[in-house]
Amino acid sequence: MRTLIENLNFVFTVDSNDTVLRNASIVVENDCLADIGLTNEITGRHSRDSFDNIIDGAMMGMCPGFVDSHVHLSETLSRAVFPDNLNTRAWVFHWAKPFYAHVTEEDEYWGALLGITEMLRCGTTCFLDMGSQYDPGIVIRAMDPTGIRGITGRHAADNRPAELPKGWTEQMADHHFFPDAQSALKVLEDCVTKYNGALDGRARCWVNIEGKEPCTLELHVGAVELAERLGVGTTYHLATSIEEAKVCENKYGVWPITRIDNAGGVRKNLVIAHGVAVTDDEVKLLAERGAAVAFCPCSSLKLGKGATAIGKYPEMVAAGVRVGLGTDGVSAAGNMNLMRQMLIVAGMFKDARLKADIFTARQALRAATIEGARTLMWDDEIGSLEIGKKADFILFDLDHVEWTPFHDPLQALVFSASTASICQTWVNGKKVYGEGQVYGVDEKEVRRKARDLAAAAVIRAGLHKDDVDTTTTLYDEGN
Ligand SMILES: [Zn+2]
Repeated sequence: MRTLIENLNFVFTVDSNDTVLRNASIVVENDCLADIGLTNEITGRHSRDSFDNIIDGAMMGMCPGFVDSHVHLSETLSRAVFPDNLNTRAWVFHWAKPFYAHVTEEDEYWGALLGITEMLRCGTTCFLDMGSQYDPGIVIRAMDPTGIRGITGRHAADNRPAELPKGWTEQMADHHFFPDAQSALKVLEDCVTKYNGALDGRARCWVNIEGKEPCTLELHVGAVELAERLGVGTTYHLATSIEEAKVCENKYGVWPITRIDNAGGVRKNLVIAHGVAVTDDEVKLLAERGAAVAFCPCSSLKLGKGATAIGKYPEMVAAGVRVGLGTDGVSAAGNMNLMRQMLIVAGMFKDARLKADIFTARQALRAATIEGARTLMWDDEIGSLEIGKKADFILFDLDHVEWTPFHDPLQALVFSASTASICQTWVNGKKVYGEGQVYGVDEKEVRRKARDLAAAAVIRAGLHKDDVDTTTTLYDEGN
C-alpha cells in the first residue's frame, strides 16, 4: 500500500536540525515513511501511477505524532473526582489509592479505551502507561482496535504503610501490595515475557512500579536490574514533590534520586516520572547515568508540585538529560492532551525566570515528540518524520480560525492552535482518527459505559463522602 500526501503547507520533521519543510509531500509505504521532501522533489522521484492513494494536503500542516511519556490509563474513570486543593501525597494516599483499590478489570478496560480515544483525538500516537493493577493484557486489548502504539506494564508496589489509613481496607492493601520485592519482580518478569512486542510490535511491556514510599528500595533497584536483563525499560514516580523530598531527607538524609542512585538504581533504562524535587548535583547525576525524566506540567500545576518554583527541567535539557512530556492520569492533570502540556512548558519557565529564551516553542515541540521517543527508547522508529521511520503523524486543518493567519508555523502550533484543528491522526501508516471519529471503536458507547462505571467506582471507593482526608502523615515515620 503506497499513499502520497502532497502539497502540505508545512511539515515539522523534528529531525536533528528541526527542519521545517514548506510546500512538502510525503510517501507512506505500508507502515513506514518511504520518502519526504519538497513537493517538486517528491513529484520528480515518484510516478503518480505507483500510488494506491493520493491525498491533497494543500490546506494541511503535518507534525510527528505526540509521545506521552507518562500516563495512567487505569485512572481515566476518575476525571474531576478528587478536589483540586490537595498536595501530591494526600492526593495519592487518600484519594487515588482508594479509587484504584475499587477499580475492576472491566473499569480498567473501558477506562483505557476512553483514554486512548482522547489521546488519538489530541494527536498522541504513542504513550508510556504506568499500567494495569491486574494484567497488562487489559490495556493491550483496549489498544488493539484503536491502532495506537504504546508501552504498558503491571503497576506494582510492595511497601504497605505501618497503619492502614481511613478508606483503606486489609483486602485493598492485599490487592495493592505484593508481599515483597521478589514476588513483585517475578510477576513483572512474566508480564514482560508475555506481552512485550504484542500487536505486531505496536505494544511493548516494561517493568513498571509505582515508586517512592509505597515501594521498597529493593524493588526500585530490582526493577531497573530486571528491566536491564530483559532488554526493556522501567518507569516509576520519584522526586514528585518537595513534600516527598523532605520526607525522604528526614528518613534517609538524602533526596529521593540520590537515595536510589546510592543503591545503584539510576541507570539508562529508567524513566523517572515527574522528577520535580531535584538538586543541582542530581541533574548532573541524571546526565551521567543517562536516565530520563517524564515531565508532567499540568499535573504539577494542579497538584502544586513546584515545577515552576523549583523544577530544573531547563537545566536537565541543557545537561543532556532526555526529558519527555507526560500528561499523567486525568485525575492528576485533568486531561490527556499533550498540546496543553506543550503550551504550558513553552511559557512556564520563561515566566518564572523572567527570561524569554528559556524552554522555547522549539524545545516544547521536541519534548512532545522526539525527546519523548528518546525517553521511551523508541526513537529508532518514531518521534520524528524521517525516511524509514514509522508513519505516525498528525494533520492540522489550516482552514481553521486557529491557523488564520499565520507566518511562523511553530509559534502557531504551540501558542495558537489547539487539538480542535487536528483533522487526522495516523499510526503505523494507517489513519486511526479522521472525519471526526476514532476508527475501530464505538466512541458513543465507550463514553456511555465510562460514565456508568465511573459513577459506581466513586461510590464503592467512598470518595463521594465529605470526610476524606486532605492532608497526610502516612509514611512519614517507619517503613
Ligand atoms: Zn503518575
